Amino acid sequence: MPNSIARVIVDIAADREFDYSIPPELQGRVGLGSKVSVSFGRRRTEGFVVGLSETSRVGTVKPLLGLASGKALLSQPLIDLARWVADYYCAPFELAVRALMPGAVRRSGDSFKHNRFVEPVPAAVAALDREALRRRAPQQAAALDVLDREPGLFLKDFLERHGLPASSITALSEKGLVTVRDAAVARNPMANRTFLKTLPQTLMDQQAAALALVVGSIDRREPPVVLLHGVTGSGKTEVYLQAIAHAIAAGKGSIVLVPEISLTPQTVERFKGRFGETVAVLHSSLSEGERHDEWHRIHSGEARIAVGARSAVFAPVTNLGLIVVDEEHEPNYKQDEAPRYHARDVAVMRGRLEKCAVVLGSATPAFESTFNVQRGKYALADMPVRVDHRKMPMIRVVDMRVEAQRTGGGPGVFSRELADLIRQRLERGEQTILFLNRRGFSTALLCSKCGYVASCDWCSVAYTYHRAEERIKCHICGATKPVPAVCPECKDPAFKYSGTGTQRLESVVARLFPKARVSRMDADTTAAKNSHWELLGEFKSGKVDILIGTQMIAKGLDIPNVTLIGVVNADTGLHAPDFRAGEHTFQLLTQVAGRAGRGELAGEVVIQTYTPFHPTIQAVRRLDYRTFYDQESETRRELAYPPFGRMICVTFRGPSDERVAFSADLLAKNMQAVLPPDAILSGPSPAPLARAKGLYRHQVLIRGPVIRPLSTPLRRILAETSWPPDVSFVMDVDPVSLI
Ligand code: ADP
Ligand code: ZN
Repeated sequence: MPNSIARVIVDIAADREFDYSIPPELQGRVGLGSKVSVSFGRRRTEGFVVGLSETSRVGTVKPLLGLASGKALLSQPLIDLARWVADYYCAPFELAVRALMPGAVRRSGDSFKHNRFVEPVPAAVAALDREALRRRAPQQAAALDVLDREPGLFLKDFLERHGLPASSITALSEKGLVTVRDAAVARNPMANRTFLKTLPQTLMDQQAAALALVVGSIDRREPPVVLLHGVTGSGKTEVYLQAIAHAIAAGKGSIVLVPEISLTPQTVERFKGRFGETVAVLHSSLSEGERHDEWHRIHSGEARIAVGARSAVFAPVTNLGLIVVDEEHEPNYKQDEAPRYHARDVAVMRGRLEKCAVVLGSATPAFESTFNVQRGKYALADMPVRVDHRKMPMIRVVDMRVEAQRTGGGPGVFSRELADLIRQRLERGEQTILFLNRRGFSTALLCSKCGYVASCDWCSVAYTYHRAEERIKCHICGATKPVPAVCPECKDPAFKYSGTGTQRLESVVARLFPKARVSRMDADTTAAKNSHWELLGEFKSGKVDILIGTQMIAKGLDIPNVTLIGVVNADTGLHAPDFRAGEHTFQLLTQVAGRAGRGELAGEVVIQTYTPFHPTIQAVRRLDYRTFYDQESETRRELAYPPFGRMICVTFRGPSDERVAFSADLLAKNMQAVLPPDAILSGPSPAPLARAKGLYRHQVLIRGPVIRPLSTPLRRILAETSWPPDVSFVMDVDPVSLI
């Protein structure tokens, strides 16, 4: 008997699936993931088919109204995965299904082919007097503003999402400022780049052993998950490449996840260089159309290797042989809106569902992963030495308190030691990276007389000062205003800026080393598409002596001529109110240190700090993961923090501090009554970020040995209690940040 019932999830109904009958004319054309039109209540809406069956669970069912896209976009394992995500992370199922496909794929279906795609003509746009246009034709100027942010957009999105009339696009097109073309013409995001073909290297013993573990798992189609713990430069990527090659030879596809910030051209290049066009890239900086095309290249089987950030864990690779999660400890694998999934954990689950190998790679594994090795859930491949037995960099810790005493002044930017070493590099023609865990000119605007700190009126954080625009900005809500002329408190005209930002660092470097060629890489300088490529290319080719950067440069850079890394202020982040602050700082600094001495020349790292004896700083100095893990584990075990316990964080938000606090309190009381005996509830308490975007925030933390006995009653209480109408809540399972 053929399937006559389609189970459909619609966007507007929270967390429920509905049965519809498949009318005769659609028989055989409806598959999993087909986009269908249905009547829902009194309206007509669209949804996705998430199940097919012969009979319905309910008596009478309405028929499907039509097929918006006949293509079966989803597979059974992916739908099962979405079900798991929804259940485990306590999110509505339709949101989990939505996460399976990029927006452009979901919205377009087959009709995509008839869509028009709008792109700017960069040279013409650059030559245009935008302000003049703004006066004459404000909507045309607004359309160009949109294209500045998203350089390539469906015409439909201009009309629907940005509310701009089609006539302005036509006018821009007639002026030669934009091109409008048929979106079905495939876009290749790497079209103007050629990739040097690379060949497999002869593996070192440690690599061969790691590869054997992974290959065994690919061939047997079963776990264990392999944790590849390899110091930076130990050849992890080469292991991934050869494991993927093995999968390809067996007719199997692969997924490679890398953290958003390390999804650099250099990373992509290594995979394209080995495997060419069968690599598809899924990245948020691609235009909608590019993402759509890359996704369909994977879906059709034309591309067998998907490389991408977090959401690529859902890439529709068929006959999956291997999932690689590189830098698996990275916090940004966690999605910060519902479904709040962790891509590493989803990868492990997908591996189980699709019976494929999973490799988690890191120089500084998440404590969760090391714990899973200890209790026998994962296999460990240890790669303790660098390729060719190159030395690990020499690490020096500089006590900035002593330095401040020596100069008799306030906090300086460079210690004498770091300045001397930079000078040495300049003389020898070697390169230096200066790392700063911040952006903007300085963090805060601070009055040195009265101690006033300019803070956002809506969020409980200090404004960040941006010199180029002479403005202060809130990095939480985006509020911005001009720098006041005098201190608003004591009227002192001499403002002092606390901390150091990349821009300030750049000007200090320019003053100290006037002949050096300096370049800066942070969220501001890389905002434009492809500026990553250019900045890195310049540095790599030796046109720049000193690269100043934020987190962005901490990952994946592999430049042999870099022999010095300066960590300007290691304390940033160390004192954050989060039990993982130490772990995250250790990971970040180790990662940064790993950028030094990647070639024949030995590397040196200078870490400037005001707390040189902090266990985290000491562990980084010795590059000693194991001792650090053991030390930190003691406290975590005592407090039942992850990885020794599971955690759920519920944050209430609202404009009234009182009602938010009341809600958190009520939840805590109700939960206490039903909590399993081995669970611990802490709070309610104001969140570390007590106010954001004008909303007060209070938290309740619940932890215990397993998630479901915590999440099941929690979900029920959250759903059944009537909360004050202006209070909302977020439930975060396995949170990575408690801010
Ligand atoms: P990781 O990913 O652990 O940081 P990589 O895979 O990037 O390390 O390797 C570091 C460098 O060593 C790269 O330039 C890579 O091409 C090279 N390399 C890796 N494995 C070998 C090998 N077996 N023989 C020679 N060079 C290698
Ligand atoms: Zn704000």
